[in-house]
Amino acid sequence: MKKRIVIALGGNALGSNLPEQMIAVKNTSKAIADLIEEGHEVVISHGNGPQVGMINNAMDMFGRSDPKHPTFTPLSVCVAMSQAYIGYDLQNALKEELINRGIKKSVTTVITQVRVDEDDPKFKNPTKPIGPFMDEEGKKLAEAKGLTVVEDSGRGYRRVVASPLPKEIIEIDTVKNLLSSGEVVITCGGGGIPVIRQGNHLKGVGAVIDKDFASSLLAKEINADFLIILTAVEKVAINFKTPNEKWLDNITVEEARKYMDEGHFAPGSMLPKVQAAVDFAASGDNHTALITLLEKAKDGINGKTGTFIKNK
Ligand code: ADP
Ligand code: MG
Repeated sequence: MKKRIVIALGGNALGSNLPEQMIAVKNTSKAIADLIEEGHEVVISHGNGPQVGMINNAMDMFGRSDPKHPTFTPLSVCVAMSQAYIGYDLQNALKEELINRGIKKSVTTVITQVRVDEDDPKFKNPTKPIGPFMDEEGKKLAEAKGLTVVEDSGRGYRRVVASPLPKEIIEIDTVKNLLSSGEVVITCGGGGIPVIRQGNHLKGVGAVIDKDFASSLLAKEINADFLIILTAVEKVAINFKTPNEKWLDNITVEEARKYMDEGHFAPGSMLPKVQAAVDFAASGDNHTALITLLEKAKDGINGKTGTFIKNK
């Protein structure tokens, strides 16, 4: 049965530098092409943590080395650059994989803006780590520039930025039109370029939206059957990494909420995925969320593996 599927790609689908990404997208494209080959309608979203950090640092160094260039590049512009750079690699690799399989389909990346609320409390409390790890000296330099830096679980310091909730996908009609003409669409990259509305004007803001939340909004907007969050684990666990660890196959929205309340999912990693999955699954009885390993996407959609979250 043909399904409409939103695939949200995590960090392991893209790698964390240019050569890694070139290799990773080939593997990722195989997993996506498996679903297209089965006849499903596919929309792809992806994260951008390492890439947006890299672009931000590069623009910053360029600004300091060239006095004619303003030192500051807004984070919204860095997100836009990351969408284009990742979309470029991903759409080419996927197109090539489809041609190899004899599938005629266009693949298009949409530069996508996502509206956030100006008074989202998350602006006052930056939580999303971006870019590389820093030592004590790097931390001092970053703080001198007014950036927020936190210690990241014994691994060093990392810049954190605000991560407001996505409210509206500005280019959603374009996405729907491309879908209805049979194209494979890459959209909401890096959670979307965060913007606020000022009358007819959309103003970019300094933040990085969580791609899991943007993907859930996208899946609801296009009335997808499935939201598949592809990450580095095959299933979601309770009592993760403890002797009582238990991998979950099928859970209801109610059970997932209970597990969230009990603190089974780490805030910077699995929690946003389960929250996004719950948000989508709760929005309709025909909406299924699936969290699994990138390489297991096809087995997952066929019910063989992964963690499924449904309303009931
Ligand atoms: P992505 O780049 O795909 O967003 P993340 O690293 O942010 O990936 O999140 C996936 C990671 O979440 C897994 O690799 C795993 O180490 C971690 N994780 C934390 N809590 C859990 C849990 N309860 N069950 C499974 N994985 C978990
Ligand atoms: Mg993540």
